[in-house]
Amino acid sequence: MSTVEPLVLLVEDEPPMRRFLRAALPANGFRLVEAATAREGLAHAAGYNPDLILLDLGLPDGEGLDVLRDVRGWSQVPVLVLSARGHEGDKVRALDEGADDYVTKPFGMPELLARMRAALRRTAQRADTGTALFDVDGLRVDLVRRTVHRGDDEIRLTPTEFKLLATLVRHAGRVMTHAQLLKEVWGVHGREQAQLVRQYMTQLRHKIETDAARPRWLRTEPGVGYRLLDH
Ligand code: CA
Repeated sequence: MSTVEPLVLLVEDEPPMRRFLRAALPANGFRLVEAATAREGLAHAAGYNPDLILLDLGLPDGEGLDVLRDVRGWSQVPVLVLSARGHEGDKVRALDEGADDYVTKPFGMPELLARMRAALRRTAQRADTGTALFDVDGLRVDLVRRTVHRGDDEIRLTPTEFKLLATLVRHAGRVMTHAQLLKEVWGVHGREQAQLVRQYMTQLRHKIETDAARPRWLRTEPGVGYRLLDH
């Protein structure tokens, strides 16, 4: 089984913690991008559109809470706060502001991994359809395992292709506009970059459909966007 490894954004200024996670996360099936400041964290959150954010609350140029507040303005990406012992108020504020969970330093890797996996699972299941599995007419998309099959064949997708497909699965049966897809998949506001959606939709169709010119699942809604047929 091949999977697309989740991308984690670590926003943390302490070198020992960064060294620890830089070694441990890739060894446990996560890709990692790092930011050492609030400013860099925000830029990376938008630029990389990570699957999960690990957020330290005390950053050299600002508060982690400000990063969280800003990110929550446009993204539901799971955010796990890395908090210092004795700062209970910070945790509560972070949860109030939309953090998904927290771990208290110092923490063990098994605990952190368990929290991260749970947060990713909840996100996968937070589907409007209430399901993390799409299985229609031979196309099977498992949002938890991050696998895609057509019949017995596994289909390999790039991370962005998978994210696009996963977004459509979460809204299966509904029309998604270019702007909605740009926002959910790329974290981009507006519809100026609709060409990006078209390009990835074409790639996705060539991998998933048996006849990309006459798609069975990934339908175009002319002038509006796309719809993943769920029957
Ligand atoms: Ca810090």
